[in-house]
Order: sequence, then C-alpha cells, then structure tokens
Amino acid sequence: MAEIKINSITKTYANVAAVREVSLTIEDGEFMVLLGPSGCGKTTLLRLIAGFEVPDEGSVSIGGKDVTDVPPGRRDIAMVFQSYALFPHLRVLDNIAFGLRMHKVPKANIGPRVRKAAEMMDIEPFLQRYPSQLSGGQRQRVAVARALVMEPSVILMDEPLSNLDALLRLQMRAELKRLLQEVKTTTVYVTHDQVEALSMGDRTAVMRDGAVLQCAAPMEVYDRPAHAFVAEFIGSPPMNLLPGVISDGNSVKVGDNQFHMDQTEGFGPGDQVRVGIRAENIEVLAQPATGALEASVRVVEPLGSHLLLTLALGEHAVKAITRTDFPARPGTRVWVRLLAEHLRLLGKGKGKGEGTEVAVTA
Ligand code: ATP
Repeated sequence: MAEIKINSITKTYANVAAVREVSLTIEDGEFMVLLGPSGCGKTTLLRLIAGFEVPDEGSVSIGGKDVTDVPPGRRDIAMVFQSYALFPHLRVLDNIAFGLRMHKVPKANIGPRVRKAAEMMDIEPFLQRYPSQLSGGQRQRVAVARALVMEPSVILMDEPLSNLDALLRLQMRAELKRLLQEVKTTTVYVTHDQVEALSMGDRTAVMRDGAVLQCAAPMEVYDRPAHAFVAEFIGSPPMNLLPGVISDGNSVKVGDNQFHMDQTEGFGPGDQVRVGIRAENIEVLAQPATGALEASVRVVEPLGSHLLLTLALGEHAVKAITRTDFPARPGTRVWVRLLAEHLRLLGKGKGKGEGTEVAVTA
C-alpha cells in the first residue's frame, strides 16, 4: 500500500512561493501527472514528495506513514530525471545494480533482479556498455531500469522524455505507460507537455503559480476544465472562450443565440461570462441554418486528418475543425453551430483571459 498524501504543503524560496498550500492524494498504484507551465512548481512538489526539499508548512505521508522529516534514502522511492543522471564510469549493468549494492541486497539476488529490469526495458544487449556508448533513448531506458530494479513503493519522474526526439518520445510514452500499468507502482510524473499528461496519466493535476487548479482524469480535465487557464493550457488548439451573458433561468446567450445550461450556479441573470467550447464541438456549415452564427474564414490549416479553421466570429477569433473536403478558403463565409451540450461556463468576464472563478459546466 503506497498511497501518497500531500497535506496543505507550502514551500517558499526567498520570496518566491514555489508551492502554495497544495493538498493532493495519489492512490496506491495510481499514475499521477503534474502538469503546468515552466516555473509553476511541479518539480518543487516532486522534490517535496521525494524529501529533497523540506516543506515550510504541511506534511507528506507515503503508505500511511508521515515522512515529512524522513530523508529521501529512507522513503522507499526511486527517481528518474530528465538528465538520466547515470554514472559515466560504470557499465550499464553496474549502473542498474548500484542501488541494490548500496542497500546491501544479497549478491545472489542482484544478478536476477538486474536482468529482469533490463529485460523489461529491452536493454539486455547493452549491459556491458558504458553510458557514453548509448543513444539518448537507450540511456533513458537504463535510467528507468535503475528505478524499477529497486522495486520501490513510489516512482517519481521529472520530465523523463524531454531530451528525446519527437518520434522516440512517442514510442517511449506508450512503453512507459504499459510498463507502469504492469508493475502497478504508484507514480508521480512531471511534465509541461500536455499531450503526455493527457495520454499517460490516470489523473492529471494542472498547476499554476504553485497551486493545483484542477486534478481529475485526463478527459475530464480536457472536457470539463474547472478554470479558464486549464481550458487554454490543455488541448491543441486550446479551448475557445467566447463572451456570453447569463439570461434568466439556466441559460446563456452567446451572440444572438440562447443556450440551455444544466448548471448556472454561482452566476446570476445579466452576469457576463466566458463560455468555453472545443474546436471539435463547433459544427461548420457552408450554408445558413437555424441557430447557426455567421462567421468568415481567416486561416485554413490542413492537418492531415482534418482542417483546422480560424474563423472570425464577430470580433472574436474561433478555432474549429472540419473534414478535409470542406470548401474553405480565407474570406469564405460560413455558418457555425455551437453544440450546446459541450458549452462550458468558465467564470465571469468577457471572453479570453484570466479568471479566478470556479467553472460551472453544462
Ligand atoms: P520547469 O518546468 O521550468 O522545471 P517547474 O514547474 O518545475 O518549472 P519549479 O522548478 O518547481 O517549477 O520552480 C517553481 C518556482 O520556484 C520558480 O519560480 C523557481 O524559480 C523557484 N525555485 C525553484 N527552486 C528554487 C531554489 N532552489 N531557489 C530559489 N528559487 C527556486
């Protein structure tokens, strides 16, 4: 049982609040991704879990035991770093075996455990080589094998794929996911890459300015962002944010169109709000239709499987997706239908930008 409980933890450097009152529970065997822009406090939070940093306030427990004052070496964790951090003067085999030897694991057990980890990471042919004789991808595999071999309660990974080229990242992403599902070790994975966060984690905690804005399953974060920042940070393209006005009852007006919302709690009639909608939930029509708003095409980006259109909708730029055979050129008049069940209320304000209010979803 290696549940991680982070209880109202704060860490300040000089006058920078790197982590601010974060509370998070990572369940036993869960793959949690910490996602956010540079400087939002992801690495600091990971280092607080690892014990490399001591919190100013709050506590961390692993497997039901308070480890706030326990040094990293006694927390039963293993870390994988972006820089691999392999010992250059040791062969791959000795790099992987290093931690076991430090922990005085009986010699007879070391060989089989190293071989098993090497097999899992598909690096058996390289065991006699030095790190300098490996490619970046192979080095990263060694770094992961070195963590796995310890059979820790928790694996912490800090941007482990950032140094790899795009194709290798794609392969390693799927492979790491498969591997961690297999070993079922509680994992915390730091990244600023939203594709990694969406595709790999059981849950994603989106951070900004030292705080966790939303922690939920990837599709929930994507589909029902709890904050305008999350809506714009996750997804490519980001979620469109349009200005709307709450009308009486459970409805919102966008342009001349009135949309029913299941929930408008926290908002009152006349409130100006931001209404979020994903590009794939905007239907683009070549002809006028009931309930469709007129727009004009600004940019057409063919992306292989679909076209990404940038549309001028009144004074707003809106991204929408269409089939590749849709007759769109810059300047073409089109009509767009916002699919009401996919509209999200994202705080008070007028369209794009920051907001602090908690979202209400349709
Ligand atoms: P990145 O993706 O760029 O690694 P991050 O989200 O991991 O960023 P952190 O490294 O946790 O962010 O840093 C959070 C904030 O704390 C930043 O403003 C950073 O400058 C500051 N910070 C981190 N470590 C220290 C330190 N040792 N001394 C002073 N400030 C620090």
